[in-house]
Amino acid sequence: MMDNSGKREIIKEKLEKIAEKLSKSGIEVYNARDQPSYLYDETPPTLGVKAAENVLIVKPKSTHEISQILKLAGEQKIPVFPRGGGTGLSGGAVPTSDGIVLSTEKLKWIEIDVENFCAVCGAGITLRELISEAEKNGLSFPPHPGDESATVGGMIATNAGGVRAMKYGVMRNYVLGLEAVLASGDVIRLGGKLIKNNAGYNLMHLLIGSEGTLAVVSEAIIRLLPPFKRTATVAIPFESIEGAIEAVVEILKDGIIPLALEYVERKALEIGEKVSGKRWPPKDEANLMVIVDGRDEDEVVSMAERIEEICLKKGAKNAYIAMGAKEQRDLLEVRSLIYEGMKDLVVEVLDVSVPPAKIPEYIKRCNSEAEKMGFQIVNYGHAGDGNIHQHPLKVEDWESKYPKLKKTFFRIAKELGGSITGEHGVGIVKKSDLKEQVSEVEYELMRRVKQAFDPEGILNPGKIVD
Ligand SMILES: Cc1cc2nc3c(=O)[nH]c(=O)nc-3n(C[C@H](O)[C@H](O)[C@H](O)COP(=O)(O)OP(=O)(O)OC[C@H]3O[C@@H](n4cnc5c(N)ncnc54)[C@H](O)[C@@H]3O)c2cc1C
Repeated sequence: MMDNSGKREIIKEKLEKIAEKLSKSGIEVYNARDQPSYLYDETPPTLGVKAAENVLIVKPKSTHEISQILKLAGEQKIPVFPRGGGTGLSGGAVPTSDGIVLSTEKLKWIEIDVENFCAVCGAGITLRELISEAEKNGLSFPPHPGDESATVGGMIATNAGGVRAMKYGVMRNYVLGLEAVLASGDVIRLGGKLIKNNAGYNLMHLLIGSEGTLAVVSEAIIRLLPPFKRTATVAIPFESIEGAIEAVVEILKDGIIPLALEYVERKALEIGEKVSGKRWPPKDEANLMVIVDGRDEDEVVSMAERIEEICLKKGAKNAYIAMGAKEQRDLLEVRSLIYEGMKDLVVEVLDVSVPPAKIPEYIKRCNSEAEKMGFQIVNYGHAGDGNIHQHPLKVEDWESKYPKLKKTFFRIAKELGGSITGEHGVGIVKKSDLKEQVSEVEYELMRRVKQAFDPEGILNPGKIVD
């Protein structure tokens, strides 16, 4: 039997031959030693996701080039790891075994179809570019999953969410069509500029959220909406999380669907204030940030005032309504920079999703378990849709204590009818937890789907399922 070093030598030789062939075909190929930033994404290093050593970076410029790469890799049974902006938080884009990182950064075409309210774009178009092109054409792309250097392909592959999912949904709600390259190198085109399409099993929705394990997305048709006209941001401090979440339920019952409905703890706001240099209006232990959008100032003012009224009835002492663009931007900046300020202090960013009304119970039970194990947790997140970001801070011996804490949180989430990930995906960091989240039957179906799309297991191996 060949030992590991023998196997790795063979892969190394195969990679050299692939590099030579691809270069001859005019495809850009690099050695990861010269471009090490392609080996990692934004997953906290504390989670110990390790990139392999023998890695090629390829940068195809067209669907045809992706197909050539996958055909060659398939023939040689070499793993291929699709990569977008590398902003993922679950290690999805990290090449965890020797192989090829397929970067989509050169897939940069975009065309806006104003009449059909959509963009047809290459997978490498970033969120920033998509928003800007949509706005130039008098339209908008509402979802906003945090980091604007995320790509269309990456957002589709992770079914990204973000603060606006509350009103405008997640990435899945914006994908009308996809072009994707299978592990065999075959190109498939799914959906189209269509709102309705019931022709057979929906393979397009199977690819959305598949984290690069079923196919490489090369192009997408993305739904756009008319532009936002006016917004108002309301900041409301509460003494307790119960009051804050009861107010969330009341706001929704009242028929207001905010653009964003965020819950933020005092500790988190203080960190955001420090990084941004901006001040949050009066804050308390549990704070809501509610953004509403509407046709004109009258509409957003009336919604903001109604939210204030509801929150005061639910125990808030006051509320701060920001109407000016700068004031609103400042509040958003404090909220957006919280993670930046905590990056070096946290073990992981969890993104559990629970039924929204269960948020107080979930957070309280988790905090109590964390305290018993000597951890402190900073919480904030998307209260309107039940997706909470928990940040366990590093403590002495966190390495040995943390796995148990994470398992406990996931167990509590499951007991409350929740999911281990509402946004960031399974990748490699939640792979073993997925088995405990879903039934055996469901897990086996997932494995068979993987096998049907990628029988040799070359696409992003080691992620989601084996
Ligand atoms: C500061 C910060 C804030 C964030 N906020 C949010 C948030 O609010 N909501 C949210 O949902 N996420 C958030 N994220 C996570 C991240 O931005 C999203 O997961 C994003 O969708 C990843 O896109 P990407 O292009 O960077 O993908 P990458 O990180 O490059 O890859 C992510 C996964 O997609 C696969 N992939 C990438 N491109 C393709 C393709 N063309 N075809 C097939 N598979 C592909 C990769 O293999 C990998 O499994 C945040 C991250 C950061 C750093």
